[in-house]
Amino acid sequence: MTRPDEGADELAALLHRAERAVVFTGAGISTESGIPDFRSPGGIWTKMMPINFDEFIASKEARRESWKRRFEMEETWNAVKPNPGHYAVAELVRRGKVSHVITQNIDNLHQDSGIPDAQVIELHGNTRYAKCLTCNTRMEIADIRAFVETHGEPPDCKFCGGIIKTATISFGQAMPEAEMERATRATLACDLMLAIGSSLVVYPAAGFPLLAKRRGVPYVILGREVTDHEPYADLALHGEIGPTLRAAVNALGWVLP
Ligand SMILES: [Zn+2]
Repeated sequence: MTRPDEGADELAALLHRAERAVVFTGAGISTESGIPDFRSPGGIWTKMMPINFDEFIASKEARRESWKRRFEMEETWNAVKPNPGHYAVAELVRRGKVSHVITQNIDNLHQDSGIPDAQVIELHGNTRYAKCLTCNTRMEIADIRAFVETHGEPPDCKFCGGIIKTATISFGQAMPEAEMERATRATLACDLMLAIGSSLVVYPAAGFPLLAKRRGVPYVILGREVTDHEPYADLALHGEIGPTLRAAVNALGWVLP
C-alpha cells in the first residue's frame, strides 16, 4: 500500500525542471469526479454493447438507441465537477510547466478546470455537445433532446441535412486528424511526459507517451493500476491521483485552493 503522496517529491523535482511538459490523461483522473470508467470491470461497456460508428451511420434504430443512452447520462454529465487532480493539472498549465493536456476523456473537465481550449487536445472527442458529421456545425445536447421529445427521432443538420452525432469518436470511427497532429507536435516538443489515469492500452492514443519516451524525455506514470508501459517509465506512482498531484504542486511551492 502506497501513501497518497508517496513519490510526489520525485514528481515535483521532474516538474521543477520542465518547461513544456505534456500531460496525457485517461479515465482514472475523472473517476475521482464520480464518472464511471467505461472500460473497467463493472464499467458501462461490460453492461451494454457500444454502438459502433458504421452501425450509427447505417441504422436509424441505432441512432435512436444511441441518443436514448446519451440522454440518460445527461444528469450525470451536468453534475460532475473537476476534482483536485484536474485543478492541479490546471495549475501546472497556468504556471507554464505544462504546454498541453492530451486527453482520452470526453467529459470536458480539463476545460472546466480552467485550461484554455488551445491547450487541451481531445483525442476521443467531447460528449458535452454534438456535431454534424458532414459540415461540423455544433449543436447542443439539450436542443437535440427537445427535438427527440417532440418528434420521436433525432434531428438532421439544419444546414446540410447531415447526421448529427455527439462530438465523440466512437468505436470504428476515424481518429480526428487535426487533434492527432496537434498531439504529435506537442509530444515532439515536450520535455516531460506525464501519463495520468490511463490504462495505456488504447492505441493510437497510448502511442503518444511512447513517442516522447523514444525521444529520451522522462516518462512518469500516475494511476491506480499497473500498466504495460511500466518498463518504459522513469517514475511510476500508484497512489490516488488528486492527492499525489496536489502534493507535487505544493512541493513546488504553489498552494492550491
Ligand atoms: Zn451539416
